Amino acid sequence: MHLKRVSFLLLSSVVLFLTVLSAVSVDEAGTFTIHLPFVNGVQTPTATATATATTVSTFTPTPTATSTSASIPTATPTSTATPTHTATSIPAQATLDVYFLDVDQGDSTLLVGPDFTILIDAGRRDRTDVVPSLEQIGITSIDLLVGTHPHADHIGQFPEVLARYPVTEVWMSGDEHTSLTFERAIDAILASQAAYREPRANEVYQIGSATVQVLNPLTLTGDFHEGSISLRIVFGDVAFLFTGDAEAVTEQAMIDRGYQLSAQVLQLGHHGSRTSSSAAFLDAVQPQLAIWSAGLNNSFGHPHADVLERLAAKNIVVCGTATYGTIVVGTDGQSYTVKTQACAEQQQPAPTATVVPAATATPTATPPTSQCVNINTASFEDLQRIVHMGPERATQLISLRPFRSIDDMTRISGIGSSRLQDIKDQGLACV
Ligand SMILES: [Zn+2]
Ligand SMILES: [Zn+2]
Repeated sequence: MHLKRVSFLLLSSVVLFLTVLSAVSVDEAGTFTIHLPFVNGVQTPTATATATATTVSTFTPTPTATSTSASIPTATPTSTATPTHTATSIPAQATLDVYFLDVDQGDSTLLVGPDFTILIDAGRRDRTDVVPSLEQIGITSIDLLVGTHPHADHIGQFPEVLARYPVTEVWMSGDEHTSLTFERAIDAILASQAAYREPRANEVYQIGSATVQVLNPLTLTGDFHEGSISLRIVFGDVAFLFTGDAEAVTEQAMIDRGYQLSAQVLQLGHHGSRTSSSAAFLDAVQPQLAIWSAGLNNSFGHPHADVLERLAAKNIVVCGTATYGTIVVGTDGQSYTVKTQACAEQQQPAPTATVVPAATATPTATPPTSQCVNINTASFEDLQRIVHMGPERATQLISLRPFRSIDDMTRISGIGSSRLQDIKDQGLACV
């Protein structure tokens, strides 16, 4: 196993070295043209680089002969792209659907565009749900498969995906795990026809009509989460941000690198753990919609209440796969739509001037059942008629649905037995 891994890495290094050695051409204007097997992208200088600011590398897509991918990107290389640009040109009436697949306590996110298919992570090793989900969606090939980091809840089903689909290119962080899951993933990559790359911060790739900005890692530290591949994927004017299991220190590093991080849709880092989605990062990203991927009643307590409170304080709508199953967000490059109805129903602006303090909203008499506030279906505003339910807890309650009983409300941060008794005494909440 060890030899195999070493030889794999050696092979990768040789391939990368030969690629760089043999395929770079520099014209008189200083423009680098790098011919790579498939992914065409644009590299830009780092913020601190002293090279001329116009240095641009143009990757020319040259599909491998063995690839059967039906959606080879054919985009014109971008000549002016920088890590801060936001808009990409996309085909007329083209749409992108982003599927945050329900893979229990793990990650797998599929982007299906008009001329690209990207899969970021492939679920858990102890499950077999990714390929069936892709089949149901109608996927026939994958242009880019990303393993954000070598944990078994992210690269778990790499072997199944690589065996089932032609994959043009695989990206891994470069961190190595000693686990059998990692070995199997590496074996599957080796056995496939996919090209292999370890992307680094500052690189920008044009994959069909999607612009993929690599935000992390800049270098590896040996900490798998610090090494999580983080991508900002821009389609027209709409941006999605994926950070794997990157935590606050890495989020801060991305901020410090001076990147444009703004994105309408953010996948919460590390399954909604409190160690990620720092207030500073949320300020930098300014998402309108946050999605977390985690299992129902998972042992980690993901998503953590602290994160939900941070989101609620910024009026960011949040939906999770444990609550709604696979969540689909579609975009035409100008605006986005949440196609998963129950999640979409959360897309109402939080009230500002209309919040009624819970104490004064308490009715004096127990209302008839028909007028009770069903905690599984009530609107954000109606929920706040329940005692102890402010905007933050209401947001959290919505993200934790469904509730089996009123007693189940103790899952909400700050609702203990005495506040639960107040809620029961009020008699407004029902299921
Ligand atoms: Zn992890
Ligand atoms: Zn994870």
